[in-house]
Amino acid sequence: MGKGFFNVPIAINEPVKSYAPGSPERDAVLKAYKEMFNSKIDVPLYINGKDVVTGNTRTMSPPHDHKHTVGTYHVAEQSHVEDAIATALEARKTWSQMPWEQRAGIFLKAAELIAGPYRAKINAATMIAQSKNIHQAEIDSACELIDFLRFNVQYMADIYMEQPESTSDAWNRVEYRPLEGFTYAVTPFNFTAIAGNLPSCMALMGNVVVWKPSDSQIYSAKVIMDVFEEAGVPAGVINVVFGDPVMITNTILESPDFSGLHFTGSTEVFKNLWKQIGNNIHNYKTYPRIVGETGGKDFIVAHKTANPKQVATAIVRGAFEFQGQKCSAASRAYIPKGIWDELKNYVVEDVKSFKMGSPENMENFITAVIHEGSFDKLAKYIDQAKSDADAEIIVGGNYDKSKGYFIEPTVIVTSNPKYTTMCTELFGPVITIYVYEDEAYTETLKLVDETSDYGLTGAILAKDRYAITEATNTLQNAAGNFYINDKPTGAVVGQQPFGGARASGTNDKAGSAQNLLRWVSPRLIKETFVTPTDYRYPFLGE
Ligand code: NAD
Repeated sequence: MGKGFFNVPIAINEPVKSYAPGSPERDAVLKAYKEMFNSKIDVPLYINGKDVVTGNTRTMSPPHDHKHTVGTYHVAEQSHVEDAIATALEARKTWSQMPWEQRAGIFLKAAELIAGPYRAKINAATMIAQSKNIHQAEIDSACELIDFLRFNVQYMADIYMEQPESTSDAWNRVEYRPLEGFTYAVTPFNFTAIAGNLPSCMALMGNVVVWKPSDSQIYSAKVIMDVFEEAGVPAGVINVVFGDPVMITNTILESPDFSGLHFTGSTEVFKNLWKQIGNNIHNYKTYPRIVGETGGKDFIVAHKTANPKQVATAIVRGAFEFQGQKCSAASRAYIPKGIWDELKNYVVEDVKSFKMGSPENMENFITAVIHEGSFDKLAKYIDQAKSDADAEIIVGGNYDKSKGYFIEPTVIVTSNPKYTTMCTELFGPVITIYVYEDEAYTETLKLVDETSDYGLTGAILAKDRYAITEATNTLQNAAGNFYINDKPTGAVVGQQPFGGARASGTNDKAGSAQNLLRWVSPRLIKETFVTPTDYRYPFLGE
């Protein structure tokens, strides 16, 4: 099969476009947005390279304008999921034998399609489906997804190069086989890039996939499928089903050929899936791989030597970009009394300057939260804070779902470091701040470490290097991505591999070779050149 050792293109991060007034990219994305917003699409299931309509449809609406519909999607029945599994297993026969450079070519082409002809469309789809402002859409659905596709190809080549020692009489080779069976990708609403990466990185390594996107991301998932199809992903390699997550998951996990779960979403769902896989373990032909990146309660700690303006900016960007709906979003902060008054003024001033509304108006920094369930949950916590004696809302606190699911960015200050919003993941534009005595830094770091079950991201801001060192040590297990003098969000593929432990996931670092290694099962091949013909070793001599 192989007729050369091929170098893959050196992966580079896709530059983020500015979308400043008058720029061509701004005109292009607004044009795409208008066209897409004012038309309706019908999204079928995608099985064996074919569009499958089931007749059972649900509507899709933008979170910032929930009475408006942009189309429908088809809901799978159990027989469709079974078809998806069967077709994946059939496709495996040829896909698993496809030379790696051909697989690489497909996904490198997908990256370039998104960078060029599909860029405005995938960004507009993400603005409509997930209510991202253009900058948030660009860094996610364009740049991060392009980066995943490009860097994964490079990591695949690096993995394949990893080979054991050989001797003159025996040649040892490792081949990185795809998993035997089919894999299952379950993706969240909040990143189009994650939705694209989870199924595609497994397919890149030679696996076949059944992919279940979030109900709230189907509109942009459709663009991903269009890209994969145009890039040449063969029929049956990535199959997409929508609908009841419990029925779909039960059908998948009951198959003896299930060989891996690639999940991103909430902790509770992931733990239940793990348990279900455990309960079925005797039915599987192989031990399934389980990778899950889940929730977070991400922190910012400031030391008394920190610059108040820098801390305020880290809070404002870290907590409120994309309405706090990033797994890495800062949702609790610990601020020393000495800098609090000054910092508080900056935060309040910044939050009051936000404009909120539809992403089509590019002056809006804040748009809507994803759906009514999320809106109602956030409103409940905000109301609770209004009535609790140990909490005070210093800015924000209003909400309105008449047109879209708009929650005003809200800052709660609490005198109780274990207050409910210091511990629970809310996944919205709400941050809770605890002000500590300047001299209680060491105790506060312990508090940060012990307050939540999660361990995803966190940040320390300080000038004092001893303070930074102490935080780095004390918080060693509190975050898988730890930031010094920066906000805890904005990980870039190839630069800050992403993931956390504790209740935040298996920490297999999306966007790294470590993650891709989970989707292969190495086979060692030893070839002996002169094969022995006598069992007797010299030590047996008389
Ligand atoms: P979610 O858990 O509600 O949904 C995620 C996926 O799981 C969706 O496809 C959903 O349909 C599916 N699902 C829901 N219930 C299921 C069930 N009973 N059985 C099988 N599948 C089921 O999460 P979400 O609201 O889409 O995303 C937000 C969550 O994702 C947050 O907790 C966030 O922290 C987390 N997240 C984590 C990372 C990370 O890298 N750690 C990245 C993004 C999002």
